Amino acid sequence: MSLYFNQEHEMFRQMVRRFVENEINPHVEKWEEERIFPAHELFPKAGALGLLGITYPEEYGGSGLDYWYETVMLEELGRANCAGIPMAIAVQTDMATPALAMHGTHEQKEKFLKPAIAGTAVFSIAVSEPDAGSDVAAIRTRAEVDGDDYVINGSKMWITNGTQANYLTLLARTSGDYGFKGMSLIIVPTDTPGFSVSKKLEKLGNHSSDTAILSFDNVRVPQANRIGPEGMGFILQMQQFQKERLSGVIMSTAGMEKIIRMTIDYCRQRQTFGKPLIDNQWIHFKICELLTEVEALRQLAYHCVRTLVAGDDVTKEASMAKLKAGRLAREVADTCLQFHGGMGYVEEYPMARYFRDARLLSIGAGADEIMLGIIAKYEGILPSR
Ligand SMILES: Cc1cc2nc3c(=O)[nH]c(=O)nc-3n(C[C@H](O)[C@H](O)[C@H](O)COP(=O)(O)OP(=O)(O)OC[C@H]3O[C@@H](n4cnc5c(N)ncnc54)[C@H](O)[C@@H]3O)c2cc1C
Repeated sequence: MSLYFNQEHEMFRQMVRRFVENEINPHVEKWEEERIFPAHELFPKAGALGLLGITYPEEYGGSGLDYWYETVMLEELGRANCAGIPMAIAVQTDMATPALAMHGTHEQKEKFLKPAIAGTAVFSIAVSEPDAGSDVAAIRTRAEVDGDDYVINGSKMWITNGTQANYLTLLARTSGDYGFKGMSLIIVPTDTPGFSVSKKLEKLGNHSSDTAILSFDNVRVPQANRIGPEGMGFILQMQQFQKERLSGVIMSTAGMEKIIRMTIDYCRQRQTFGKPLIDNQWIHFKICELLTEVEALRQLAYHCVRTLVAGDDVTKEASMAKLKAGRLAREVADTCLQFHGGMGYVEEYPMARYFRDARLLSIGAGADEIMLGIIAKYEGILPSR
């Protein structure tokens, strides 16, 4: 029991922990090596336990609970033995479906949200492009109106779950050439003619998660697949990004704590100069400093959750938390690897994977510098003229 979590949350936490221990961790080595995990096997299991629709309406198979339960799930996913699979699950729950759940029509939710919650359909969020990552307003993938349909042409890059997805939540330009006006969010079934996976990317880390370049060549989807009014896509995506960023913060905070505690155990056992490593003041002071930073980040994350649950705008605080999480994860990874010595550098130990995986947080879901730009705007520092 704590200020934020009651007995029901804790029972739910145990259930998610068992899911991670039984359905994810035993397979991590194999899935990391294979550079992909079987989303179509894992997601229905997660769906059957109610993990993919915690905050979504019961009418569509969700649990209708608040974001504190989602927080519990994300914390437990963040403790898994890799970051790739937790990220892939969070794409389904917190990145590709929030706008659909909030702004979709009843028919869209029946058709797309229900299978996402059940885990019988795999989702991707398709925003970034080869020439537009940080600058979302520069996307060029177009969806042109033709009768009752959109005809989509272009390319998306870095798309998580991209080789396995049944549906993409696609941000496309429906008018104009540049700028945040004239974009729309459209659900694209990947079995539509003209869609293809151009390439599966080899990455530094998050090896178990597939990341792809996607191609659209006259892909025809009904206009009825558009979420919300035409031209509102950028705004809906900016709203949706808040959950994407917050989910990354919550998962990474739990992951950081796990790796620090693992390092404490290692430094207790490892002897140098006739005493355990942990007895060196530099080492236990540094570890305590990191634990303090992680706790401060967790409290900022909980503040964001409380704000979100109250229905208030969380953009500035979530951006601050995402910035801090990315930087702290890098420091935790580097320091903990250092305290493992050579054992931090070999694949038999989890440190090397953590070091690789942790690097993504400062880039994905908006780079550190993009978070700083958002904070500057919300603080009234920009525009200066
Ligand atoms: C493993 C992985 C998974 C991903 N999954 C998805 C996904 O599922 N869906 C999706 O849509 N995208 C996804 N992305 C894309 C991700 O969001 C982008 O990589 C990110 O937004 C950065 O864009 P970019 O790579 O094009 O970098 P760029 O935009 O080229 O920026 C490069 C660097 O320049 C700096 N920079 C950029 N702009 C500024 C500025 N204004 N001021 C100062 N510095 C700046 C930053 O340091 C940035 O890292 C994923 C990326 C990775 C690596």
